[in-house]
Order: sequence, then structure tokens, then C-alpha cells
Amino acid sequence: MSQARFLPYDAVTDWLRKIAETMRVTAPVREGNSVVFRDFDPEEPLVLGHQSAASPKSVVFPQLEYLFRYKTDRTADENGVRQITLEPIYPDEDVFVFGANPCGARGLTTLDPVFINDEYVDPYYKARRERSIIASIVCTLPGDACFCHWVGGNPNDPVGSDLVLTPIEGGYLVRAHSEKGEKLAAGLDKADAREEQAAQQVEDAVLATLDPPPDLTDCPDVMENVFDDMELWEQVSDKCIYCGACTYYCPTCYCFNITDEASGIAGERIRSWDSCMFPTYTREASGHNPRPTKAHRFRNRILHKFSYYPKLYNRVFSCTGCGRCIRMCPTTVDIRDAVLRVKEAATKDESAKEVSDG
Ligand code: SF4
Ligand code: SF4
Repeated sequence: MSQARFLPYDAVTDWLRKIAETMRVTAPVREGNSVVFRDFDPEEPLVLGHQSAASPKSVVFPQLEYLFRYKTDRTADENGVRQITLEPIYPDEDVFVFGANPCGARGLTTLDPVFINDEYVDPYYKARRERSIIASIVCTLPGDACFCHWVGGNPNDPVGSDLVLTPIEGGYLVRAHSEKGEKLAAGLDKADAREEQAAQQVEDAVLATLDPPPDLTDCPDVMENVFDDMELWEQVSDKCIYCGACTYYCPTCYCFNITDEASGIAGERIRSWDSCMFPTYTREASGHNPRPTKAHRFRNRILHKFSYYPKLYNRVFSCTGCGRCIRMCPTTVDIRDAVLRVKEAATKDESAKEVSDG
């Protein structure tokens, strides 16, 4: 890691203004009661160090994305085939996300292996990911719904961040965690030993506020024991009204739908977010739905994040513990409660199996 830098609080706007000359800059601002990411405007006060309503996920995986334009020939050839011309719409800008939370930045790394892997590379996602730079700010005030340390993260977590900023007296200590981050921070003054020490104290102090987390490491091994226990899934999903807010605000959810917007012989293909909590999510053309009730859909959400995904991707949970789903749920469903109840039931099941196996 290169030498840390120092960014005085009163120099933040000018620094961002300079960066905005060469790329799009997005940063958190207040809108009503929410903190949201918007394009940087030097006149608008930034709200830093608070968790934004939505994570920066949409920078690499937009809520709605035009994939390509198409046009078919007006007439068919002698075989009745009409040619189609496709024009992909790739992202054409670099984006600097300033002021993410570490849990939001970490969420991007859970999307990576889904969209970029040995068998398939999503060119749209890849282009956006390569063209984005993420600066997160150490989270000094974890909220009641936060549980990043249950799932492998922490308030200083650099995973997914190109730069991590720690608030200290007079400004931020800026540490680069990638080449992209290093380049961006290169113009700032080098931090001195006193500033580095102050940042370390801030980081240690926030870690010291965290309660010991429950051990969730065996979730991928045991949780599917209770796959068929529909009484359990009905209990844990009891309050859910399947609005999908939890998945829309989640930094790690990545389900999407594909639709065409056609006008005559031309049109566009669009990718937009979907949610496994919606009743139509897996409904087949025949009308049959393999996940017919909210209990089935809730089961999918919990098992996907704590069992299926970690089994596929190095036992990493598809949950960063950001707590957004808890804060945004209109009926106070708490994923921590669901996970602990499911794990407890599944572990009992496991012990019963061991006894009967003998
Ligand atoms: S936000 Fe709450 S009510 Fe809405 S789908 Fe998620 S768990 Fe259910
Ligand atoms: S499941 Fe909830 S707590 Fe976990 S990453 Fe998604 S929104 Fe955050």
C-alpha cells in the first residue's frame, strides 16, 4: 500500500470539482429524509459519513439499462428471414463514487463473480466496473440495523473500495487500495505520522464498539436441512407483504428482467432490476409458479444469500450486513432474526441427523 494522503475537509469540494473535469462524480446528498447519491454539484452540501438509502450498486448495475438498439429489415429474404441490425449501447464515461459506506462498496465485490466469471462475461457490467472508482468513508456510527461484522466485513473494511477515507481532526486520512485509487489521490499532500496514528485510533475505536457476532460460518452447510420445513418459512416470513423494497435497496441483489421496447421495426432491449420477492418472479408461461407463496420466496432470499451463493463463491455471504433491508422494510422484517431462527432450526436438524446416524 502506498503512503497515505491527507484531504482537509475544506478542500473536499475543490478536489471533487477538479476530478469532475475529467469524469462523472457522484456523491451523497440529502433529499427529503433520505441520503442519496447524485451527480456532484459544488453548490449542494454533501452528506458524508451517513449511510445512503441505496448503495452505489446502480453505478455498475443500473436499475434500468439500455443494452442495445435493433432494427429489422422491412422485407424478408427469399427464405422468409429478416435481417436484424444490433447496435450495443456501452457505457461511455468514467464514474467516481465519493462517500460510499464500506458495506456498500463491499457489495460490488459480491456482484463481480456473477457477472464476470470463467464461463460468461457480461460486457455491460464489466465496462461499468472497469470505469468506476469507489471512495468509501470509514463508518464511525454503525446504526442499530447494521451487522457487517456478522458477515465478514467491518466499519473500516477496504474490500471493494479503491480509496478509504478515515475522518480525523481537520480532514480525512486517505488510503489507496488500488492503482486507480492511488492515481486519483496522487495530487493530495502526504499524511504525516500523527495523522496516520489519529486514523488508526478512529478505526480501532469503532471496532471496539461492536458486539461479538454470532457464528454464521456453518450456514452454507446446514441451512438447507430446513428447506422443506414450510412451517418455519411461514413463521419467519409472516410479516412480509412482498413489496420487494429489501431487494431493491440491497447492495448484493442482482436479479434482473429483460424487456424489449419496440416501435415498428426498431426498438431497444432493456435490462431492469427484478426481485425474488415479487409473486410473478418465477411464474412460468403455463401459470405454474414453483415459488407460489411468500414463504417460498422468502426462503429463496435467505437461502440464496446464506447458502447457495456462498457455496458457489468461496463461502462469501451475499449479504454485507448493511441493514438496508431492515431499515427499508415497511413491516419491520429483520433478516438477522430470520437467519438466526433458520440456522437454529437447521442446526437442531443436523444434530438430530447425527444422533440417528449414530
Ligand atoms: S421489504 Fe419487508 S415486506 Fe417488503 S418484501 Fe422485503 S421483507 Fe417483505
Ligand atoms: S440482505 Fe439486507 S443487510 Fe444484507 S446486504 Fe442486502 S440489504 Fe444489506
